[in-house]
Amino acid sequence: MIKIQDLHKSFGKTEVLKGISTTMNKGETIAIIGPSGSGKSTFLRCINLLETPTSGQIWVGEQEVTNPKTDISKVRERVGMVFQSFNLFPHKTVLDNITYAPITVKGMAKKEAEDIGRELLKKVGLADKEQASPKRLSGGQKQRVAIARALAMSPEMMLFDEPTSALDPEMVKEVLEVIKSLAKSGMTMAIVTHEMGFAREVADRVLFLDGGKLVEDAPPAEFFSSPKSQRAKDFLEKIL
Ligand code: ADP
Ligand code: MG
Repeated sequence: MIKIQDLHKSFGKTEVLKGISTTMNKGETIAIIGPSGSGKSTFLRCINLLETPTSGQIWVGEQEVTNPKTDISKVRERVGMVFQSFNLFPHKTVLDNITYAPITVKGMAKKEAEDIGRELLKKVGLADKEQASPKRLSGGQKQRVAIARALAMSPEMMLFDEPTSALDPEMVKEVLEVIKSLAKSGMTMAIVTHEMGFAREVADRVLFLDGGKLVEDAPPAEFFSSPKSQRAKDFLEKIL
């Protein structure tokens, strides 16, 4: 599904990603973990070209997204993203948040977009909130709307950047449950997370980034019980 070859990203003189190569298979759930500043967000943002890689190649399916001829908006249709900070349109209703991109980007008929939107709201447990303003929702509800909104574009893959980091503790679970059900449904996903229990339970693979390098790539059982690198050992010791 995704192939990444020697990905580098610099901001000015600072090299943030120092040659990352990996693949993500269809249907896999990948947890990306690592210390703050290790390049996790930048890595994720390069996949759907929110950041332009300095060098290296990224393929999404057959499409080389790093090819300058590639239509970036088409890539973003295929790769949905959910951020820590929700980024909902505050002045639109919940349902309008979800139907906006399908209608304006894909040219979908309003009725069809709304039918799909309602199905998705059901899926994330918010069927009764379609006319609500995002301002009236809790953080956990906002994040579930943001997930439904990303899914409304029928992406082939979803990227989550610390989707529960901005939430009060009691709301973390409801969002993780939605992500878990997506994983079970076979969605291909990469999730930057500090929820180690979640990574252990749901991820097929853990990628550990440190200093802009991919230091480990292993199934969670292996990564958490016997990390190979000293850097991963130190990291896990600090947080577990
Ligand atoms: P993480 O998500 O692992 O905490 P980031 O990918 O956000 O790490 O950041 C990695 C490094 O890149 C940090 O040192 C950060 O300051 C730097 N960085 C990220 N985005 C930018 C940017 N737009 N301009 C300059 N530096 C940036
Ligand atoms: Mg980050």
